[in-house]
Amino acid sequence: MHLPSGDPRIMPLPELTGYADPLLHSQGLYIDGQWLPRRGVPVVNPSTGDTLTEIADAGIADATAAIDAAAGAAPGWRATPARHRAEILRRWFHLMTEHADALATLISLENGKTLADARGEVAYAAEFFRWYSEEASRIQGEYRRTPSGSHTILVDHEPIGIAVLITPWNFPAAMAARKIAPALAAGCTVVLKPALETPLTACAMARLGEEAGVPPGVVNVLTTQSPGELTNAMLADARVRKLSFTGSTSVGRLLLAEAGRHVISCSMELGGNAPFIIMDDADLDAALDGAMVAKMRNAGEACTAANRFYVQAGIHDAFVEGLTARMARLRVGAGYDPRTQCGPMITPAAVQKIDRLVSSAVRHGAQATTGGAPLQGPGFFYPPTVLVNVPAAAAISQEEIFGPVAPVYRFDTEDEMVTMANNTEYGLAAYLYTRDIPRAMRLGKRLETGMLGINRGLVSDPAAPFGGVKQSGLGREGGVTGILEFTEPKYYAVDF
Ligand code: NAP
Repeated sequence: MHLPSGDPRIMPLPELTGYADPLLHSQGLYIDGQWLPRRGVPVVNPSTGDTLTEIADAGIADATAAIDAAAGAAPGWRATPARHRAEILRRWFHLMTEHADALATLISLENGKTLADARGEVAYAAEFFRWYSEEASRIQGEYRRTPSGSHTILVDHEPIGIAVLITPWNFPAAMAARKIAPALAAGCTVVLKPALETPLTACAMARLGEEAGVPPGVVNVLTTQSPGELTNAMLADARVRKLSFTGSTSVGRLLLAEAGRHVISCSMELGGNAPFIIMDDADLDAALDGAMVAKMRNAGEACTAANRFYVQAGIHDAFVEGLTARMARLRVGAGYDPRTQCGPMITPAAVQKIDRLVSSAVRHGAQATTGGAPLQGPGFFYPPTVLVNVPAAAAISQEEIFGPVAPVYRFDTEDEMVTMANNTEYGLAAYLYTRDIPRAMRLGKRLETGMLGINRGLVSDPAAPFGGVKQSGLGREGGVTGILEFTEPKYYAVDF
């Protein structure tokens, strides 16, 4: 692990493209096509701890205005031909691609992730606009006779109505795009509430949407210090018909309870605790490459991040040696420094949580083969860490680490591994390395997960259904099914 010399964490901000691009400089509330430039809430650069800028703090009246705007725009937007909606989404894709470098810098500044990860996120986010521009005109209905022959069944998928979208800080562009694009493609209007740590990316994306031709009121953005109060007010408004949330399982539970009071349709993309499984017959180098992607994308701050490495006894020591060498080589530093391979954590609290989990595992018998303690600031840094001999009962086996720490567990038999892998309330992603594909498919059926990477450390793709089982969520985003989360089937019983 290397902290770069000469403290490159203090690169002057005006030199950064993300700051220089006026199109990405929109900050404030975005309601009914108007930017309301208010200030008051600092946005912190986690690479330095400095304040980047200030953003608006929306109140209940702003939330009502945003719902009014979404309701006002709804009839026009749902009546807009799907082809026309698709063309706007397609332009949004092109604009994100044109402004990719500047957007990536902005993401890196407010989130801390490396520029390479931020560029990957922008490309991934933009793809949702392209994919749903293609899906907008392909929503399938149904036409069939009843089994008794009594009448004909026609099913149409109508836009569900106004959608409230709540997104986390770890993928500020991708999580917003994964909701906005299918919602708009389906004919819904939306209010987006981004995370307080990363509001600038959401504002920049809304600005690009405006430039792409999204009519006023179709997309509204509220930044706030009172997310619970504001969301509850919006869910209590009878015009809101959909809540699409990505974030922690604990907040997801609160929102499900609140939405239940008003019987609002919910899509929930919640926490994960992904097992990364390596069988004796795996290709070791491929498994190490995959492990680095699954663990270190976003410095471990990903819901799909490998949280527990289960390694079969015959390959365990070689894997630990290889992983330790790769993790120890990573360069830690400011996310926006192009040389950085592992950026800061989002907040000091995130560093403290990781420290608590690692210290507790070590107290219970684990050893760190590299890393193992927080780094000095400025900025909120935890180094790449590998832990071995981790007791199965350690808190780190049950909680999302959300940081660059890889706990490794040894196993002997398939049954033992399946029991350990499934021993969690989560079920979002899992990874499995083996050269024996029939075995992988057989084990895949036994793993409680919404997504399984077989000989791959990355599962996300806009064309695939993303989502989890158990406490990891409800519904799917992306793919063919993602758009249906924003529609309601209407059945016509027809006697011709
Ligand atoms: P979080 O604390 O649950 O926050 C997520 C969003 O919910 C933020 O916009 C937050 O606003 C808002 N929020 C917080 N309390 C709320 C309340 N009472 N009512 C309404 N909204 C509220 O999660 P996070 O720390 O930002 O993100 C990390 C979590 O997200 C991890 O658990 C990760 O696994 C999960 N995640 C899941 C997926 C997936 O696809 N399954 C993808 C990415 C992340 P504030 O910022 O103002 O608090």
